[in-house]
Amino acid sequence: MKVLLVGGGGREHALALAIAKSPRLTKLWCAPGNAGIAEVAELVPVKAEDISGLLRFAVEHAVDLVVVGPEGPLVAGLVDRLAEKGIAAFGPTEAAAQLEGSKGFMKDFAARHGIPTAAYGRFTNAAAARDFAATRPLPVVIKADGLAAGKGVVIATTRDEANRAIDAAMLDRAFGNAGAELVIEDFLDGEEISFFALSDGTRVVPFGAAQDHKRVFDGDKGPNTGGMGAYSPAPIWTPAMEEQTMRTIVEPTIAGMAKEGAPFRGVLFVGLMLTDNGPELIEFNVRFGDPECQVLFARYDGDALALLDDCARGKLNPFAGGMRDVAALCVVMAAENYPGDPRTGTEIRGLDRASNIVGASVLHAGTKRDGTRILSAGGRVLGVLGVGATVKDAQRIAYQAVDAIDWPEGFCRRDIGWRAL
Ligand code: ATP
Repeated sequence: MKVLLVGGGGREHALALAIAKSPRLTKLWCAPGNAGIAEVAELVPVKAEDISGLLRFAVEHAVDLVVVGPEGPLVAGLVDRLAEKGIAAFGPTEAAAQLEGSKGFMKDFAARHGIPTAAYGRFTNAAAARDFAATRPLPVVIKADGLAAGKGVVIATTRDEANRAIDAAMLDRAFGNAGAELVIEDFLDGEEISFFALSDGTRVVPFGAAQDHKRVFDGDKGPNTGGMGAYSPAPIWTPAMEEQTMRTIVEPTIAGMAKEGAPFRGVLFVGLMLTDNGPELIEFNVRFGDPECQVLFARYDGDALALLDDCARGKLNPFAGGMRDVAALCVVMAAENYPGDPRTGTEIRGLDRASNIVGASVLHAGTKRDGTRILSAGGRVLGVLGVGATVKDAQRIAYQAVDAIDWPEGFCRRDIGWRAL
C-alpha cells in the first residue's frame, strides 16, 4: 500500500514510525516532513497547506491512502478533493472538519444533540457581544470562531477585560476573519484532559486519553505554546469517565454528524473539563494532538496503517484501538525564544546517545539535515519520549534522554507529568 503522510511535526514523525512498521506498507512519502521522518519516508517538498500540490502528487503517484496530520488542510477540504479523484484519506471532510474549524458550529451542534458543554452565545456584532458578556458570571470565556492557532481564546476575569477581548477580535480583527464571529461561554472549572476516539463515520472506538502542558515554563507559567509535553495514560482518567464520555459526547457526535449528512471519519480529539457534573466538552479537534499523538502511538498495540486505513474506508473493527498497559511521556525540546521568534540553524548533537537509552526515543519536529549535522528549523524541535511501566518511570527515562542531548540553544520544561505524580 502506498501512503502519503501530510505534515512535518512531531505528530507526523510518530505517525510515520507507526505506519512504517505495518506489513501492508509498500511506500511511504511525507509532505513536507522533517529530518527524522526522512529516515522512514521519502520527503516531498510540498507544504501541508498546498492543497492542489498534494492532490497532484497523490494522483501522479497513485497513492492508496493519504494520512493528514494537521487541521489546516482538513478544514480547507483536502479530503473532499482527494475523494473526487477516488483517493482514500484518513481525516474528515471539510464539512465534518467544521467541528474544529468553527467553534460556533461546534456549540450549536452540541446544543442540537444534548452534548454537555458550557452555556454560550454566538455573535457577529460587538455591541451585542458586550451586552451578553455583561450578563454572564465571571470569569467569562471569549473565543474567536475560526482557527487561531490556540491564540483566539481569552478567559476574562473582569468586565473590562471581556470588553477589550471582544473589541480586539471584532473591531481590531486581531485574529483576522477568524474573529469576525465570537463565541462567548461560561467558564468550566476542573482539570483538563484530552480524549481521543477513532471513527469510520458510523463506528467509533476509544483511543486513549492524555494530558498536555500548554504553557512554556515550569509550573504552567508563561505564554501558551503548541504543547510542551504530554503523557498517557492519565491517572485521573477512569474507565467510568471514558464510558460516560463515549456515551454522552463521542457517540452522539458521530451519530449526529452522520445524521446531518457530514459523517466524521478520522480521529476526534475531545478536549474535556472534568467538572463536578462529569466530563464536559471544551473543544473538538479533528486531528491528533501534538505531542499527544506521540504518547498514544507509543502505547498503541497493533497495525497502525491498518487502523487508519479501516477508518478511511468505513471498515473500522469495533475492537480496534487497544493500548499496551505501559505509560508514555513526551518532553518537547524547543528552540531559544519559543514561542516568540525561535532561534533556528543551531546544531543538535547526542541524538543517538539519547535514543540508545532503553525505553527512550527521539522524535523530530522542527529539524533539518545539513550533511551529517541535524539543525533546528522551527520552534518546537524535538519530542523526547520515554516508555515505562508507570508515568514516573516514563518520566525518568525521558529526562535521562533529554540530558543525553547536547543542544545548548534548546530548552524544555523539567516538570512534564507533574499532575500525574
Ligand atoms: P487549542 O487548539 O490551543 O487547544 P483553541 O483555540 O482551539 O485552543 P479552546 O480549546 O476552545 O481553543 O480553548 C483553549 C483553552 O482555553 C482550553 O484548552 C482551556 O484551557 C481554556 N478554555 C476554553 N474554554 C474554556 C471554558 N469554557 N472554561 C474553562 N477554560 C476554557
